[in-house]
Amino acid sequence: MRVEVINTGSELLLGQVINTNISFLGQKLASLGLKIERQTSVPDGGIIKTILAESIKRSEIIIVTGGLGPTHDDISKEMVAELLGLELEEDIEILKRIKERIESNGSKMRKINSKQALVPNGAIALPNNNGTAPGIYLEQSMNGDDVHIILLPGPPRELNQMYADSVEPILKKVIRQNDRTFIECRNLFFSGLGESELASRINRIVDCAEQRVECGYCIKPGGIIFRCLGEASVVLDIETRVKKSLQDYYLGDGINTLQEFIVKSLMSKEESLSLAESCTGGFIASLVTDIPGASGVFNIGHVTYSNYFKHRALDVPNSLLENHGAVSREVVISMAEGSLMKADSDHAIAVTGIAGPSGGSPNKPLGTVYIGLASKGKDTIAVKKIYKTDRISFKEKVSMCALDLLRQRLCSLI
Ligand code: ATP
Ligand code: MG
Repeated sequence: MRVEVINTGSELLLGQVINTNISFLGQKLASLGLKIERQTSVPDGGIIKTILAESIKRSEIIIVTGGLGPTHDDISKEMVAELLGLELEEDIEILKRIKERIESNGSKMRKINSKQALVPNGAIALPNNNGTAPGIYLEQSMNGDDVHIILLPGPPRELNQMYADSVEPILKKVIRQNDRTFIECRNLFFSGLGESELASRINRIVDCAEQRVECGYCIKPGGIIFRCLGEASVVLDIETRVKKSLQDYYLGDGINTLQEFIVKSLMSKEESLSLAESCTGGFIASLVTDIPGASGVFNIGHVTYSNYFKHRALDVPNSLLENHGAVSREVVISMAEGSLMKADSDHAIAVTGIAGPSGGSPNKPLGTVYIGLASKGKDTIAVKKIYKTDRISFKEKVSMCALDLLRQRLCSLI
């Protein structure tokens, strides 16, 4: 089915608000096998009607966001009614609910609030459990084709809830009535290889054009998502083949971040982790503790920024620091082993590097970082990387590289 989204609101085009509603809807619709074919952002005002007039000629599902509020710039409903020649009628039940909601917040119902209780003739009002403005669902016949128009409030908290409560059930029904082939969308998260390498390896297995599926790649911190959309049986077959051929890099069903993989994998092995961070300033600890269950596997993280505390907290010998410098293979290995021993953990990650913008030298240019991994009963390893970027991206890249090193160890690849 052809799906189109119109996001209204001058603030979107003035750059004051980021359009998170489109990414929410894109993800939700894709999970139903519906692909948004076109998205338009329009300022408040009569242009909504012009765009809508074009949309109903080419799309079967049209979702409009924003413009359902009580103020004069909120005119989405009015524009739809005008375009389709429908009367707006006050819905007494909705008016009552709006009044109750406003008064329960200690505010007074004003005349302009009653505008939100207007519903185009023949439309269904969608309850708003997080706000006052109801959504609208209209089914119209246009030149023999059914067109489904859905108006949703702009505030994401209201839109998201209304989507779950009312819109998804409507869409599921509409899809069942229209599409005989079942569409599937799979997102597979891979880590440990670059986008072009992943794409070329997948290209060797899958000919997207020939199999009539839509394939895409999306870079995420710590990995890449491979997306495959198309007829269910074809997509599931491609999924099986891709997972089998790239199993060393696939994080697992339902896992969407590297840190989630690490925590779940440590949990299932009943192993523990400690951290010795310098240049990442605790970012790895933060990522790991974002995941529920981290308390069962994460022992301690040291943020040893100064040489003094690398020595005092992790027992890094002063001679190593003096002879090799804090940013060195020798020091990162000592930090990792110090952390492993002090915390009595199964694995310890250490990082030390030069985030910049100052501090580089010809031998150790800006962005140089050493990442170490010590594990009980295994040789400690260290890798050197150079990430020339700003401090924030540097922390993220180093942290993800460190977590990927641990992933490889947990998968017995190193
Ligand atoms: P209200 O009753 O709050 O006026 P509304 O349905 O009329 O709701 P808008 O006036 O278009 O919606 O937007 C209200 C607020 O919702 C905006 O100021 C903005 O903060 C947020 N918002 C609107 N559209 C989007 C969007 N596409 N993505 C993210 N936030 C949005
Ligand atoms: Mg508004």
